[in-house]
Amino acid sequence: MRVEARPEGLHLPDLDLFLDPAARVTRAVLSHGHADHARALAGTVHATPETVAIARLRLGDTSYVPHAYGEPFELTAPSGTVARLTLLPSGHVLGSAMVLVEHRDERLLYTGDVKLHRSRTCAPAEVAAADVLVTEATFGLPVFRFPPVVDLEARIVDEARTALDSGEIPVFLGYALGKGPEIARILQDADIPVMLHGAVHRMVEVYRSFGVGDRDATAYERGKVDGYALIVPPSARTHPMLRAIRQKRVIAVTGWALLDASYDRYGADVLIPLSDHADWDELHELVARTGARRVLTTHGFAEPLAHALSAQGHDASALHLLHGDEE
Ligand SMILES: [Zn+2]
Repeated sequence: MRVEARPEGLHLPDLDLFLDPAARVTRAVLSHGHADHARALAGTVHATPETVAIARLRLGDTSYVPHAYGEPFELTAPSGTVARLTLLPSGHVLGSAMVLVEHRDERLLYTGDVKLHRSRTCAPAEVAAADVLVTEATFGLPVFRFPPVVDLEARIVDEARTALDSGEIPVFLGYALGKGPEIARILQDADIPVMLHGAVHRMVEVYRSFGVGDRDATAYERGKVDGYALIVPPSARTHPMLRAIRQKRVIAVTGWALLDASYDRYGADVLIPLSDHADWDELHELVARTGARRVLTTHGFAEPLAHALSAQGHDASALHLLHGDEE
């Protein structure tokens, strides 16, 4: 199956189908709602119901066709042949999907963003067998090996309790889609009250509308944050809202926490490497589980990962796509 990196995005020319396009095209599949994947709409957009809801909020309206995980659907290629597509959980954030494309006895799996370790707020990844794998490589360097999730969750709870016990406000930095709701869930499960920045609160409401997260969380109110753990997107760290809080401990929760430079990048007192992406070992496990011989890498450290996979006997190369920097 031919795979091309075009200015409009990743393209499967045999099907005239774009995956996560960067510009408006005729038809596309969106893997998930992050701004570096859900970048532009298409005339027809295929996605999970959760991603449709998020794309509607962030990108607006078009002809959406929702597909539940694991329910195949058909697309007719320009040649008149029919391809079978299936969206499978990628374990990244609410609604995130890998896209399995079966056409003329060949199977291609596009991961979008993926992780294999568990999460409390999204379905675990379901890896399918494929002949061709197109995988993200955000953390495609051997330096990125994350500690066990259970240890990182315990650190999140400990940091919140320590800050609250010493009269500080624990301020967690996490994206509205994915990390923010996940941190909220970890803290709420430990009976720590949470207050959410507006963007995180709106997304938590989307999660709740899909039955994820059973407890109400409080939206941020100026002057009422004492006794709460506050969760804000990383972009809000320089906002006056945070400057007004004098006694605070800023905790960045991100895979980039493994780099010391992240203290400055996030303006954080504490870094915790809980990530929504696969680390180096998980990327290799993913490739092994698909059984794919041909591997195309994209997003992040695509070249080093492709190089390592080539050395192991794969037909691997990096695809160069234009993309942004949201986890
Ligand atoms: Zn993502």
